[in-house]
Amino acid sequence: MDFTRFMNKFNEIERQLSPTSALRLSFDNISPETEEPPDGNKRLWGVPVPPFVSDKVVSWIEEEFNEAPVYYNGNCVLKKVENVRMIDRYNTKNPTVGTLYLTATHLIFVEPDSNKETWILHMHVANIEKLPLSTTGSPLLIRCKTFLSVTFVIPKDSECHDVYTSLIKLYQPVSINKLYCFNYQPAKDDFPKNAGWDFFKLDAEFKHMLVPNDNWTLCSMNEKYELCDTYPRQIYVPKEATTLMLISSSRFRSKGRLPALTYLHNNKASICRCSQPLSGFSARCLEDEQMLEAIRKTNPNTDYMYVVDTRPRINAMANRAAGKGYENEAFYENIKFHFLGIENIHVQRASLQKVLEACEQKSPTMSAFMNALESSGWLKHIRSILDTSSFIANAVDKGVSVVVHCSDGWDRTAQVCSLAQLMLNPYYRTIKGFQALIEKDWLAFGHKFSERCGHIQTDAREVSPIFTQFLDCTWQLMTQRNDSFEFNERFLLILHDHVHSCQFGTFVGNCEKDRLDLKLSERTFSLWGFMANHLNEYINPLYKPNVDESIKANLAPQCIKFWRGMYCRFESGIHPREPLGDLLLDSKEHCNSLEDHVQHLTKRIASFKNYISKSAKKLQDATTTSTTKAPKEPTTSEINDNKYNYDKKLSELSAADDDHPLKANNMSFANLSLNAEHTSPPQALPDEINSVAVDWKPMRNVTTCSCSTPFDQFSKKTHCWRCGDIFCERCIDKNVALPGHDSGKAVPVCRGCFRQMQKQSP
Ligand SMILES: [Zn+2]
Ligand SMILES: [Zn+2]
Repeated sequence: MDFTRFMNKFNEIERQLSPTSALRLSFDNISPETEEPPDGNKRLWGVPVPPFVSDKVVSWIEEEFNEAPVYYNGNCVLKKVENVRMIDRYNTKNPTVGTLYLTATHLIFVEPDSNKETWILHMHVANIEKLPLSTTGSPLLIRCKTFLSVTFVIPKDSECHDVYTSLIKLYQPVSINKLYCFNYQPAKDDFPKNAGWDFFKLDAEFKHMLVPNDNWTLCSMNEKYELCDTYPRQIYVPKEATTLMLISSSRFRSKGRLPALTYLHNNKASICRCSQPLSGFSARCLEDEQMLEAIRKTNPNTDYMYVVDTRPRINAMANRAAGKGYENEAFYENIKFHFLGIENIHVQRASLQKVLEACEQKSPTMSAFMNALESSGWLKHIRSILDTSSFIANAVDKGVSVVVHCSDGWDRTAQVCSLAQLMLNPYYRTIKGFQALIEKDWLAFGHKFSERCGHIQTDAREVSPIFTQFLDCTWQLMTQRNDSFEFNERFLLILHDHVHSCQFGTFVGNCEKDRLDLKLSERTFSLWGFMANHLNEYINPLYKPNVDESIKANLAPQCIKFWRGMYCRFESGIHPREPLGDLLLDSKEHCNSLEDHVQHLTKRIASFKNYISKSAKKLQDATTTSTTKAPKEPTTSEINDNKYNYDKKLSELSAADDDHPLKANNMSFANLSLNAEHTSPPQALPDEINSVAVDWKPMRNVTTCSCSTPFDQFSKKTHCWRCGDIFCERCIDKNVALPGHDSGKAVPVCRGCFRQMQKQSP
């Protein structure tokens, strides 16, 4: 099928349909296995057609395209190319040969020999380059936002051109409504659409900090985004701030981003954020000056506060010529003003570009790599972000409030405010707290995710790795203090990937208002809902809760590291076979399982003992009443054998009175009714014992899951707690309580075990 022609016609049909464009949706979800037509008997190429697609459209498509579409793994394939060679930078001599499938959402490369599949989400593509024709075909270089970079060599140039032009259209849609999240459907019964959208509420987060209180109040003036449309509706300001102060201050600040509370520490010192004042060379705003004074007064412990401008002094000076600038210490009472020198989005973008070039060198020498990394300046930028964050955290820790801004207050300000909180408060170092921090300081306060991540076609100069740097800085803190964070590196990588994937609506749009206007919570799934189902993959086994209240970043140059796990994630051969954290977590889980099992067995034995001694007592009572004396026994020294004792008790029991419960019910284990603590019958014991794997298969040398998915350095290997075998994340998706565990906690089991357990307990 001619793909371009298909897409043109397709778009034409789409335009005729409603703006919600249900047809595309239906195409993505059509799977050849579907048996029942959803309604009536409309079918297209034997596949049921949803009711909202009219007969006219169906017959029209059938006439225009007499070929049925090809499917791969339930995905409608738009183009399929055979004999494609995939070149890995580290394996240029033996490229793998396979089939390339282009679907509406992914590019899939399948290596038939090894069962290996490489899936590239269109939304993850950063750029595509058609390289000069070679003797083996036409090479297509694809660089991804996840830092994967691959070259496909396609035998025919015309086919390469087709794939190229299709990808260009697909990877960066023009309209936000074409993003992946509006089509994405998780696997059946994975999690509901509303899951995650209500996990975080701004007022609840502030309540955590005991706000509102005597000094801080909720300002209702932004309910309809009148004060500032890139701020949240709920903003917290000093109680003393008057309406006039709020309005004037908002007008005197770039984009209306007036000073508002983002964090209140337990010593009354606070972090407020805003944008630069429109001060130019000499302009003043009395109400803005009063506003800052009102903020200072909320903290009675000091008679001054800091105003931190995160920019280098020279940038701020240059802004004055454009009528913007910074606070003049002479006009603002009791402030101490500081420049801190984080470069702007353009410098950061160029720097990351150089990092990637350093990583892309073909077998570089040590000095070539080090020079390239050095000249990128990346680690210097990371350090200066951490430096500024530390300044804020230290000030707050010592009881001094801080007001932070950069230019518009949505990039550098978001970075340093959130990192300072991460250092100050252990809550933000938990999985839930970190997500709440992102919700508050990045999503609510308006970081422009869609522009910075290039979700849709936009000005390339707006794209910048600001959020990536925030994750990088978090990783630096994590490596310095590995017991202070509840989450692991994988958690950060998943966050990074989904900020760019647009699979979930969470990071779509540039501010809270955008997300409400797009009705994302109704139309898309939430990343938080998805992550809640995978929490066991994100746990740091070394985490000690509340080991320290606040942590400090070590800013010595030797302590700032290059994050190989992020920027060189897809390079084979440079990562450990198993991340240490995974091994540790696995051993911990294995121990937990065994301890739980031991606990269960101990209780079982105790209940048996208890019962037997009770029965023996009953027996003794019975014999003393009916006969005068029990028969003489061998001396105790002769009967130290458990088996002997047990057999003896049994024979005693069988000889007991007729009113004995065992006697009445035909003596057998099946009818032993034990004490209330354990109600399961004794014949369940073998099942209980078999339900817990004592030995777990070693992780080493396991290269594929039983579903034949190959494991690589970043896929998590998970043990089934029932059979002890190793599976990929996709195959371990059931959690059930095992009969052999005392705790009754739901634990991961493989699908095979899950089926067997269901058979056992109908
Ligand atoms: Zn299993
Ligand atoms: Zn698997």
